[in-house]
Amino acid sequence: MSAEMPRIIVLGAGLGGVIAGFEIKSELGSKADVTVVSRGDKFHFVPSNPWVAVRWRDRSAIEVSLPKIFEKRHIEFISVGARKVRPADNKLELEDGRTLSYDYLVIATGPDLAFDEIEGLGPLDGFTQSVCHVDHAVKAAEAFDKFCEKPGPIVVGAVQGASCFGPAYEFAFILDTELRRRKIRDRVPMTFVTSEPYIGHLGLDGVGDTKGLLESELRNRHVKWITNARVPKIESGVMHVEEVGEDGAVKATHDVPFGFSMMLPGFRGVEAVMGVEGLVNPRGFILVDKTQRNPTHRNIFGLGVCVAIPPVGKTPVPVGVPKTGFMIETMIAAIAKNLKDLIDGKEATHEATWNAICLADFGDGGVAFVAQPQIPPRNVNWASSGKWVHLAKVGFEKYFLKRVRSGQATPYYEKLALDVMGIAKLKS
Ligand SMILES: Cc1cc2nc3c(=O)[nH]c(=O)nc-3n(C[C@H](O)[C@H](O)[C@H](O)COP(=O)(O)OP(=O)(O)OC[C@H]3O[C@@H](n4cnc5c(N)ncnc54)[C@H](O)[C@@H]3O)c2cc1C
Repeated sequence: MSAEMPRIIVLGAGLGGVIAGFEIKSELGSKADVTVVSRGDKFHFVPSNPWVAVRWRDRSAIEVSLPKIFEKRHIEFISVGARKVRPADNKLELEDGRTLSYDYLVIATGPDLAFDEIEGLGPLDGFTQSVCHVDHAVKAAEAFDKFCEKPGPIVVGAVQGASCFGPAYEFAFILDTELRRRKIRDRVPMTFVTSEPYIGHLGLDGVGDTKGLLESELRNRHVKWITNARVPKIESGVMHVEEVGEDGAVKATHDVPFGFSMMLPGFRGVEAVMGVEGLVNPRGFILVDKTQRNPTHRNIFGLGVCVAIPPVGKTPVPVGVPKTGFMIETMIAAIAKNLKDLIDGKEATHEATWNAICLADFGDGGVAFVAQPQIPPRNVNWASSGKWVHLAKVGFEKYFLKRVRSGQATPYYEKLALDVMGIAKLKS
């Protein structure tokens, strides 16, 4: 560790990294230098990508330019990606050849999207669209417009190894709403293809009655589904699907035609951390203990989608656990407090609750759930649906973007609201 002020680097400026930068600075003030390193100087509000893909939002509405915001908060910002994390030397190699030293590193790089694992998957070299990144969502909007000129079947879902399912349901229902608005829904057979063992599993073995709520919603909207689905290959206009039984053997195969498709890919860790000894699991996800600290490299913390969390149970097709926004915020709260304690010469003892609050928007309604904790068995296991969810999601988007633009850590009214609802970020 250096003798002068400790330097904390936050790697990644997505939903987790940006708020972590604010929160850590707010917790530590002048006790540490905080630097955020991210590829590019823009923040994108990922949860609104599905709206960009049907032109309910412009990309500019969900984008925030970061340099001035960080400057105002006395946080250094470097808009260059990291090529490699080198924990043995406490250094980060940047893509422009520079090397940065840190005393503490907080990794918040989100996922690498594993389109290359399935032939024909993804918007780059494949035949399906994506809403994982705003660039993909913009491309999906163009493909959707073209599709609407000559409607045909739609396939939406999540492939084997995916660990994010809510946005797949959201997007299927948003498409249904938009197709009805464009008065062409009657010409579009829709199929939901998912690696989940049942509808509404969500990588969480369900929350409340998400199974009943989402099955009923799919039925009401005339969307057929295939669960326990493995996608071996996608060709132009055809998705090859293997339906797997409880024993893992293929029990049926389907060639599902499509004129437009959005499939969520598997996630893995980003190249900068992949294979780093002691830091990551074989899939490149950051290993963390209960205090969000890496067990080997004790001055490294992980938060957000890049963190390794074991699946909730065995499923015939691999299904990962989602890391949702509020759960990520609980990780940030624990890291900020633990960094303060470590810098003050104390032990890091704060544990995130990993509680999850999630709003899945359908354009004209939606499903909300609260899972406390996110991993079952739970103390609170609640799900509900209604038009209010769409309004709440719009409100949340506005609130979150305002928070990023103003460089705020957790505002007092958010703390108050969470206290009233009895939803905690920290166990201790
Ligand atoms: C389409 C979609 C919708 C979602 N909707 C919701 C929702 O409604 N509610 C909810 O709770 N959750 C939602 N989630 C889940 C989760 O909240 C988001 O995925 C969230 O963006 C994750 O935040 P993150 O910071 O972990 O990763 P990201 O937001 O992906 O941010 C990672 C950042 O790290 C940067 N980065 C990556 N590699 C490097 C590198 N080598 N060097 C420098 N920078 C790097 C990236 O450029 C990016 O800016 C959604 C996820 C998706 C994909």
